[in-house]
Amino acid sequence: MRLAYFPGTRRKVTVAEYVSETGAKTARTGDDYIAPDAQCPACLGNMYAVRGAPQRIQFFRHRVGLNCPASRPAGEPYLRMTPVEPDVVGGIELRRAFIENWRLHYSAIRTLAPCLSPEEFLTIVGSADELRVWEHRALTESWLPQTLVLLIDFPPWTGLRRNGVPERDLWLRFWYQGQHETFSALWIDMQHGATLCRASFEPPRRETDRPRYENLRKQSELQPDRNFLNAPAKYIPAFIVRTVEHGLT
Ligand SMILES: [Zn+2]
Repeated sequence: MRLAYFPGTRRKVTVAEYVSETGAKTARTGDDYIAPDAQCPACLGNMYAVRGAPQRIQFFRHRVGLNCPASRPAGEPYLRMTPVEPDVVGGIELRRAFIENWRLHYSAIRTLAPCLSPEEFLTIVGSADELRVWEHRALTESWLPQTLVLLIDFPPWTGLRRNGVPERDLWLRFWYQGQHETFSALWIDMQHGATLCRASFEPPRRETDRPRYENLRKQSELQPDRNFLNAPAKYIPAFIVRTVEHGLT
């Protein structure tokens, strides 16, 4: 990762800035100074600076053993999303409401993940079915878009295309800041304002590869609109409507 939080702050610094401010040990006998760790902007875990030769790229790397969403290989679920104590009846109702209002959800998810394709949308629904995400007790319909975007990664080549060319330039991935292991734990934080993050990675050259956190270009903190169910429906092109409605039946 090119930028990390300066130790104990929320200020993003480069390796050069970090090094110039934390300094190094001296020749004094017994000086065992070790620069304090920087923090990962994604998971807030500890990171150290990797300094190659000056002409090499310098970056921050996690201490071992941290499961950071920024470095997780995509395809692995970011959190354990399956409820431990599922609410089966509530899940059926929530899914029914989602299908009934799918256009509103499509627009809300598209705001978070630009260039959303109908195939991506249907894949998300399939993953939610498989993981039984609908059956979380505390989950309500207005929280669905910011929950469902956690389920898949969004590379350029699965998004919308214009004349065969992907409209999305970067690989998108979503997570909530902080260290959580289950979606239920996240829910407790969500009520107190856990922050949804969107990372944009430089996509790998081959479609079968995954971006690494060294390829992280940008990370944004999002503020999802939780009132989208009451807003007027936004325009969705006819070919998307056809594909989604065909896929949902
Ligand atoms: Zn991290």
